[in-house]
Amino acid sequence: MHDRFETVRARVDAAARDSGRDPASISILAVSKGQPAARLREAAALGFTAFGENYVAEALPKMRELEGLALDWHFIGRLQANKTRPIATHFAWVHGVDRLDIARRLSEQRSHFAPPLNVCVQVNVLGEASKGGVAPDEVAGLLAALGPLPRLRLRGLMCMLPYGAPALQQHEGFGLLRRLRDASVADGITLDTLSMGMSNDLEAAVAEGSTILRIGTALFGARATAG
Ligand SMILES: *Cc1c(COP(=O)(O)O)cnc(C)c1O
Repeated sequence: MHDRFETVRARVDAAARDSGRDPASISILAVSKGQPAARLREAAALGFTAFGENYVAEALPKMRELEGLALDWHFIGRLQANKTRPIATHFAWVHGVDRLDIARRLSEQRSHFAPPLNVCVQVNVLGEASKGGVAPDEVAGLLAALGPLPRLRLRGLMCMLPYGAPALQQHEGFGLLRRLRDASVADGITLDTLSMGMSNDLEAAVAEGSTILRIGTALFGARATAG
């Protein structure tokens, strides 16, 4: 774990240097799906404070077990309209918002005693049939509709590229997400986050402006469970 962490950190630092960016402007979300709580505890001891989980049923017992560590939990899985309540209750961030009705539910179900739920809008940047996310030309409309939802805090855009996409396609997809963010900011919508880049494509993501890398296998090794 420690060696893998050093390797990831070195990759991020090198990529930041290559594109003239400050490494401190890029955070690493430790994607802990398929990993037992003990591995998360190890990662927390190395300084990780933010963890990404894809499945509520898997995440909740880990949250309980690690309660004392004051970690930030990010939901990065597929959202289903009938399963929003535990996400609105237990997570600090949701990365894959791509429907207004689901966003409305998250806002309605977010406790008034908790800070607003941080959300990113997922964009299907390469037009893949099997992927979640809104089409690039729907981003502005969805962002405008999310703005008034009182218990959400709009943070940015998120995308996920196909595993093994060639470098050219990585730059194309991540570059498009950055331009969509820039266009929104120019329209007066405050967005400070680009959630893009995973174990295999973090270099291209950093070059294109990522602020949150979602890293699983490069930190933890292979997952026990698929997904
Ligand atoms: C699993 C997952 C990741 C991490 O993928 P790795 O290739 O293990 O780094 C990142 N983002 C999402 C949305 C995921 O589902």
